Amino acid sequence: MNEIDWCINYLKEYNHIIYNLGDTKENQFRSLMNITMPYDLSDEYYEKEEKVLKSILSRKTIIDIIDFDNGISIAKGDITLFKVDVIVNACNSKLLGCFQPLHKCVDNAIHSFAGLKVRRDLMEIMDNQGHDEANGLCKVTKGYNLPSKYIFHTVGPIYNNLKQDAIDLRNCYYNSLKMADDMKLESIAFPSISTGIFGYPIEKASEIAINTAKEYLEKENKNLKRIVFVLFSEGDYSVYERRINKAY
Ligand code: ADP
Repeated sequence: MNEIDWCINYLKEYNHIIYNLGDTKENQFRSLMNITMPYDLSDEYYEKEEKVLKSILSRKTIIDIIDFDNGISIAKGDITLFKVDVIVNACNSKLLGCFQPLHKCVDNAIHSFAGLKVRRDLMEIMDNQGHDEANGLCKVTKGYNLPSKYIFHTVGPIYNNLKQDAIDLRNCYYNSLKMADDMKLESIAFPSISTGIFGYPIEKASEIAINTAKEYLEKENKNLKRIVFVLFSEGDYSVYERRINKAY
């Protein structure tokens, strides 16, 4: 049996599922990963998962940060393909990733392609913490099967048009930059935090994102060389492009 079939069967048995979730094999596997709480997955599962995810990645084009200029850049694309020191994930306050099979959020994509060790590590972090994660903080895991070395997990605000929303969103960016810098990392990639399901208007959110990064580089930075904002749609990219032209 090949690795993906093995993983699908294993996760079906583990979750007591007899029906198929998803159409293609890759979608079946991703859907099963999405719903799995990794309390006690076997080492053999993680070995096979790594082979499957590495093979999926080998068919995609990795974007190497070395090709970007120093300072702040914007790029259109999928953040899970960025070879950087750290990518930032836009999470909810449970911090365990998205449990909705094949959901289109960035949290789902990052967990699906990094693998279940990320949720396993976050379960331990959250158990030790004993309460939900507050907005604007930052927790770290390895990147596992992603091209990036690390993932920072931060909770953006659900937009309510309050002053606190802007403070929380700024903190997501600021605390991630500070943590990367303290860890002596040189490159970081951000998605557009809170501007999807959490409803933050992208014009306002992009201003906070770019101004926080610019200020950080100018005033506090020691180690960071490249900061990239990765936008998933053409429309979001244009908003960030206009904003960056205004800032510089
Ligand atoms: P939030 O709950 O913080 O709003 P979402 O994931 O719903 O998070 O959306 C945040 C942004 O991430 C949206 O602009 C969405 O289009 C974008 N996004 C979704 N998938 C990816 C991905 N694979 N890479 C980069 N950005 C993504």
